[in-house]
Amino acid sequence: MRMSRYFLPVLKETPSEAQIVSHRYMLRAGMIKQSSAGIYSWLPLGYKVLKKIENIVHEEQARAGHLPMLMPTIQSADLWRESGRYDDYGEEMLRIKDRHDRDMLFTPTAEELITDIFRAHVGSYKDLPLTMYQIQWKFRDEVRPRFGVMRGREFYMKDGYNFDLTKEDAMHAYNRHLVSYLRTYERMGLQAIPMRADSGPIGGDDTHEFLVLADTGESEVFYDSAVTDLTFGDREIDYDNVEQCAGVMEEFTTKYARTDETHDEALFNAIPEARRKTARGIEVGQIFYFGTKYSEAMKATVQGPDGKPVPVHMGSHGIGVSRLLGAIIEASHDDKGIIWPEGVTPFHVGIVNLKQGDDEADAACESLYKALTALGLEPLYDDRDERAGGKFATMDLIGLPWRITVGPRGLKNGVVELTSRRTGESEELSPEEAVKKVAAIYDNH
Ligand code: ATP
Ligand code: MG
Repeated sequence: MRMSRYFLPVLKETPSEAQIVSHRYMLRAGMIKQSSAGIYSWLPLGYKVLKKIENIVHEEQARAGHLPMLMPTIQSADLWRESGRYDDYGEEMLRIKDRHDRDMLFTPTAEELITDIFRAHVGSYKDLPLTMYQIQWKFRDEVRPRFGVMRGREFYMKDGYNFDLTKEDAMHAYNRHLVSYLRTYERMGLQAIPMRADSGPIGGDDTHEFLVLADTGESEVFYDSAVTDLTFGDREIDYDNVEQCAGVMEEFTTKYARTDETHDEALFNAIPEARRKTARGIEVGQIFYFGTKYSEAMKATVQGPDGKPVPVHMGSHGIGVSRLLGAIIEASHDDKGIIWPEGVTPFHVGIVNLKQGDDEADAACESLYKALTALGLEPLYDDRDERAGGKFATMDLIGLPWRITVGPRGLKNGVVELTSRRTGESEELSPEEAVKKVAAIYDNH
């Protein structure tokens, strides 16, 4: 992409309504624009990162064997009356009437609808296990929408639902989700710690939230610092292997890590003092096992091996796709702007032409642009007729992890400069070597 043709409405002033850094940078970098309280338009740069995050979620769900599908945002109230949640959900549910005066709602989550689909089409235990998921807009009429996309009213969420014959099978689904979530967040450059949590209006017994540690997080968390040493890394996992998934689950959830809702002072105090940590965290996902709560209320049964109908065991699993943009920025920025992890960066590398209009500099930039593009990389070429300082400031703000700087002086010696946004370190390389190096970096992402 050439900057001159891109839509990047960068703001010079810090917007006064933004209280936290991720919100400030998303507005300043022209990623989002508020349309009303807690509701945003996603401008091209923000949309690009949103899609990258969504794509990682899809890839990791596919790897775990979960089936993508899509359900409507506007749903009939009838199903929600069946489960009892139409009344229970309260003010957060946006209720709508259609022209025939029928009660509709904008989906805050989709347990009812998926259960209805399930009971219409699945009749036998032989069709289990089954896990389906969607990535779809949700609406919750939050009392205090704030912090930009972190606590929106409209937000983008991955919600997945498993259907199993027994509790044991459903616990395997639970563990499988935990493993796939660990991988998902790590690919985004995040450490998200599974913490025992409270189930809230969804109901059920077993639930873990995934929290990214950040001072601006809304949750208070308590943990054994040993949990921050755990990484999933690139280990191979067979998602059908019950013991293997249970092993990972155990490894990542045995040490103390809880939100304030489930915090247990006595257990916490049993941890050696030096490892006892209290911090703030951003919830980026949650997994639930809730047994037969919905299947019993909505008569979602299958014929068991003995021919008798049994209600299925279910769980639901969510990832805050749009919230993740904020969480990643909270975890990765400096005073100049965002620092995108390679896995989610909107463009792989920025090209800054120090002297637009100089034949040699223009030609070198063009040829870098072509070479990078030919390798399947997406460069963002700042080809505007602007001062170098302004170009650098924009690149730093929008946070591309790598920048190639091209100027007549370097070109005289046959070199360009490759700079890491994270460390600020630069290296002089021939244009060919710079391309090779950037390609090698992204080979692993
Ligand atoms: P919270 O406690 O933050 O209100 P929740 O527990 O009600 O969230 P879930 O039902 O678990 O949310 O939804 C799954 C994920 O969706 C959450 O882990 C979070 O990342 C994201 N999410 C929930 N509410 C919002 C919101 N208002 N804006 C953006 N993302 C949200
Ligand atoms: Mg939650």
